[in-house]
Amino acid sequence: MIISMKNSAPQAEVQKLIDSIEKKGLSVTLIRGANYNVFGVVGDTTILDEKLIAANPYVDDVTRIAAPYKKANRIFHPQDSVIDVRGVKVGAGQKICVIGGPCSVEGEESLMTIAAAVKEAGATMLRGGAYKPRTSPYAFQGLATEGIKILCEAREKFGLPIVTELMSVEKLDEFVENVDLIQVGARNMQNFDLLKALGRVKTPVLLKRGLSNTIEEWLMAAEYIMAGGNENVILCERGIRTFEKYTRNTVDLSVIPIVKSKSHLPIIIDPSHATGDWRLVESMSLAAIAAGADGLIIEVHNCPEAAWSDGAQSLKPDNFAALIQKGRKIAQVVGREM
Ligand code: PEP
Ligand code: MN
Repeated sequence: MIISMKNSAPQAEVQKLIDSIEKKGLSVTLIRGANYNVFGVVGDTTILDEKLIAANPYVDDVTRIAAPYKKANRIFHPQDSVIDVRGVKVGAGQKICVIGGPCSVEGEESLMTIAAAVKEAGATMLRGGAYKPRTSPYAFQGLATEGIKILCEAREKFGLPIVTELMSVEKLDEFVENVDLIQVGARNMQNFDLLKALGRVKTPVLLKRGLSNTIEEWLMAAEYIMAGGNENVILCERGIRTFEKYTRNTVDLSVIPIVKSKSHLPIIIDPSHATGDWRLVESMSLAAIAAGADGLIIEVHNCPEAAWSDGAQSLKPDNFAALIQKGRKIAQVVGREM
């Protein structure tokens, strides 16, 4: 971290700031310039609050050199992390994972039909929401425990690990007992109690990027889980809110190389929520593979017109199967398997 203080700062004030930083176990090197006192802070600067330092009236500018996350930071963990989800390995150098399934679990018969179709198409995991974060309290809220039970039956039948969203700490035990990959939805990316609770377990977590969060805030959310002791985190980009209205969200695929340079964690793309339109799902999936994504999570429904949630962005099984066929070709070009 580089701190510059105005040259007019009284010596006592400069010393006070240096002392307060050194007291935290960091070392400070002072460079006295013509107009500024510039000092470099070396050590674990993640413990410093740069906004607080910048608020000092004698401080002119604070620049952070090291990112504020540690466990998620590639600098401290140069090799790519590979997360094992009930035997399916997710991360660089592994097969690109494809998670398919409905937005919501709607019942046993429909989930089994969709699970059979996604498995047949080549999916490596099954998704389905049992607890749904809906904008309207009058909309379908999910089958809850019954939904989890149905997902477990589908896992048994088709051998696909299951992915589903946890919305409250209250249900954590139920998830740890039954779920292979616990999704933290976009709306809960900064639910810090939930993140801390997930840090205390070992189940892998699929951490979606918040609707309006920066990449750094997203990596800090991952840091919460990892700081607690659970390093099994997979990041998922699902589009962010912008002024654009032709799509539900704006999908910024540049996050893939950015996240890969800043972090060792795997990153997957959700082209369904990112676009909100089934017609755009295939092209964004292929682009994500080309850009280096470690996986895809795609909403699939045998009858999207009648889906209880997110039908407009759900692929029919034949389109999902065609996407995987094309995706395999792109994967090959970028030296991956799918
Ligand atoms: C979902 O996966 O169905 C979902 C609600 O996702 P997100 O949190 O990205 O909106
Ligand atoms: Mn959905």
